[in-house]
Amino acid sequence: MRLGAGPPVRRADASAQDDVRRANLSAVLRLLHFHGAATRSELVVSTGFNRSTVGSLTSELVKLGLVRERPGVVGGKGRPSNVVEPVSTGAHVLAFDVTPSSVGAARVGLGGYMLQMRRRLHTTHPHDVADVVDTIVTLATEMQARAAAGSVCLGIAVSVMGSVRQPDGLVRRSPPLGWHEVPLADLLREATQHRFPVAVGNDGDLGAVAEYLRGSARGVQDVLYVRGEVGVGGGVVVDGELLKGAGGYAGEVGHIVVKPGGRACSCGAKGCWEAEIGDNAIVRAVGRDPRESDIDDVVSDVAIGNRRSIAGVRKVGDWVGLGLASLVNLFNPNIVVLGGSLGALYPTMEPTLAASYARALGPMREQARLVRSELGSDAQLVGAAEVGFADVLEDPAGTVAARRREMRDMPTQRDAEPDIDDVRTPSR
Ligand SMILES: [Zn+2]
Repeated sequence: MRLGAGPPVRRADASAQDDVRRANLSAVLRLLHFHGAATRSELVVSTGFNRSTVGSLTSELVKLGLVRERPGVVGGKGRPSNVVEPVSTGAHVLAFDVTPSSVGAARVGLGGYMLQMRRRLHTTHPHDVADVVDTIVTLATEMQARAAAGSVCLGIAVSVMGSVRQPDGLVRRSPPLGWHEVPLADLLREATQHRFPVAVGNDGDLGAVAEYLRGSARGVQDVLYVRGEVGVGGGVVVDGELLKGAGGYAGEVGHIVVKPGGRACSCGAKGCWEAEIGDNAIVRAVGRDPRESDIDDVVSDVAIGNRRSIAGVRKVGDWVGLGLASLVNLFNPNIVVLGGSLGALYPTMEPTLAASYARALGPMREQARLVRSELGSDAQLVGAAEVGFADVLEDPAGTVAARRREMRDMPTQRDAEPDIDDVRTPSR
């Protein structure tokens, strides 16, 4: 997956006109999707195409229903340049985030607009795969029914905590969910009668993608993202590309061993980073019982200045810094984004975290800025949605045509406006 707007693709072979046209349409749509409205003049400058090319590409995207044009504001010399913007109800993705406690869902429109959001707590143990599949399908159907008539559904994209094989979306192993070899993408395709393209990704990877494209790491090329939850996930962006590894499993930072012979980890090993900094470790460190309390209790205790809780969280901060120091030495990122409970508790653990993080080599430490996630618990939904948008951004006309053909057999949708109450502007 190509991340971000990037430079327009130019091909030397002039005979491949279709390829050139597709690449040029893609360049304009990417700019609008990731950076929002722009005047035609701004598009000329950003793409390097001439005015008439930008005009004809824009008209084609308008015909596809993906962008709209409105007159620009009069001011300065000459005729105002038309403003071009993405149509959030022109195309959408149904995005999901499966965690041990719930299934989060969002209908995300072109331009990254959250048009509708839902969350459903698991009614049974998340171990029950059929129940999770059923919840996702129910939410997908409900959100799809509320989509504007004519909006092209680009597919279902799901974030899962666990090792997910690419490109087929087989969840090899998810200790927090208790899953082994679950063909989640196939199960969702079958349960929706193959009406939607389905993508399944790892929560850490999708969080990294989201922060890189729309969150704390915008404009930064080398990113390390760490999400603290019951499990600890991570993702790495190297020079603007998500690091995948041989099987697509790269970035499982939670299972690097930081304390040989230490506490038992959900993966079966001992002394993993997750066992020292995951939610249950934090709950234990503040003197609570993970069977009775959860991380939200710790966050509230800390917010009211409970000293015992603050001390416990700082003890964990020491372990967080220790792991980050090794990771920063390995990847030399410009930014380290802390998400999930680590993001929420970062200000509290900062003193001890900083002290142990100082083990990272100086040149690396100087370059890597430590920040909290801007997207917070929405990061996985935002990242999943971007995976769903990848095809239309690569080939706008071909993807819209193909999806319209496939959607013809779908049940009629009622004319629906977006849920204005739910609409959130994308961060940029
Ligand atoms: Zn482990």
